[in-house]
Amino acid sequence: MNASKTSQAAKRQEIDLAAEAARGKRTAALAHPATLEALARRADAVAVVAAQYATAVDTDSRFPAEAITAARGQRLMGIMVPRELGGEGAGIAAVTDVCYTLGRACGSTAMIYAMHQVKVACVVRHGKASAWHQLLLRRLCNEQMLLASSTTEGQAGGDVRNSAAPIMRQGSRITLERQATVISYGEDADGIVTTARRSADAASSDQVLAVFLKPDYTLERLAGWDALGMRGTCSAGYRLVAASGSEQLLPVSYETIHTHTMMPYAHMYWSAAWTGIAASAVDRARAFVRKASHRAGGTLPPGAAHLTRANASLRALRALLSDAVRRFEAAAADAATLESVDFQTGMAMLKVNASELAVATVMSAMQACGLSGYRNDSEFSLGRHVRDVLSSPIMISNDRILANAGMAALINGAPASLHD
Ligand SMILES: Cc1cc2nc3c(=O)[nH]c(=O)nc-3n(C[C@H](O)[C@H](O)[C@H](O)COP(=O)(O)OP(=O)(O)OC[C@H]3O[C@@H](n4cnc5c(N)ncnc54)[C@H](O)[C@@H]3O)c2cc1C
Repeated sequence: MNASKTSQAAKRQEIDLAAEAARGKRTAALAHPATLEALARRADAVAVVAAQYATAVDTDSRFPAEAITAARGQRLMGIMVPRELGGEGAGIAAVTDVCYTLGRACGSTAMIYAMHQVKVACVVRHGKASAWHQLLLRRLCNEQMLLASSTTEGQAGGDVRNSAAPIMRQGSRITLERQATVISYGEDADGIVTTARRSADAASSDQVLAVFLKPDYTLERLAGWDALGMRGTCSAGYRLVAASGSEQLLPVSYETIHTHTMMPYAHMYWSAAWTGIAASAVDRARAFVRKASHRAGGTLPPGAAHLTRANASLRALRALLSDAVRRFEAAAADAATLESVDFQTGMAMLKVNASELAVATVMSAMQACGLSGYRNDSEFSLGRHVRDVLSSPIMISNDRILANAGMAALINGAPASLHD
């Protein structure tokens, strides 16, 4: 076989393995309803702890240590990892359900879990050819490690597809020093998965993805995190200085990782966390309307129409997300589809649409509750929900995504069938 055929075969094998991992097919264990039910019970147990500490986490803007300890106790950190490496081979639908369940309890816990799982997905799907990353996945399951993410750099905002700081090489060693504007739970993570320019003479878009474990790096705090919402994510800014062996770079270009995994998984898992926040707001609004109607001898309060609206937008949000998960699972084996403009635009727009629907749902729930939702000292308070969900349009700005997708809107006409 010549070199080009070998590399084509390797690419094909990587795509097949990635597709299997995406569907959780290699380890059909979690496709079994009883196993899924057991996973739901484990997620519920973590949600109970997350809900108990959600107010304190939000008030003190602190890491949700109790909830993450509970998630580790339920062995939820490595569920996506294939069974042969010590995980459970969970597919996307199972993980989005966990994010959703946690989102109903504590937005920060859900977002931390979602961000961690996006990083795990990148390693699972693109680290197959690397002994170091296979070992990492084993360790991740054994030790229930928590991985953080660093993509935002300097003043570049959410421009994930360009990096400034380069990987510097000396023999088999690499170093990286980057101004990491935001690293959620950076100080509490066991490792950081970061984008970087491939080398000092590479273009800013020629990127790699590196995994550094805690002993490999230092974090010097450059900015704190006193934010409106998602306060428990502790998304402070740091100067990240890292050194390791070069085998810690994922053996696939970041361009491929971004297109096949990072962007779609981030948008699905983040959206699941926001859907959980929205569902929790609707539950509170429902409880408020029930109580008000009971007090009024069965007459619905005037704000009840907003509950109807909140329910409808939550339903649309859930349908949007589950459709995206189905579409991804169907396309996971097909690199051409994954990389197509139509598919990429759909996955990018999932984030825009899900964030808009999540905000609309929470605002409708707030209007249904009126002053009781607006107050911080009421059993129906929606203050934390509103503040948390308002992070969704800016976490990679919707404006940036819409601007990037602008040209794609010119290419394809409307589908011929409603079911395309
Ligand atoms: C809760 C939370 C947790 C986060 N955690 C992490 C993390 O762990 N690691 C990490 O690396 N990052 C993290 N981020 C940062 C995130 O990934 C984005 O980088 C960040 O939200 C973008 O910030 P920005 O608004 O300053 O930047 P920008 O994207 O530059 O946006 C700035 C402004 O410019 C506008 N704008 C930008 N581009 C365009 C355009 N093309 N057309 C029109 N208008 C445009 C936007 O509307 C916005 O008002 C987190 C963010 C949040 C909210």
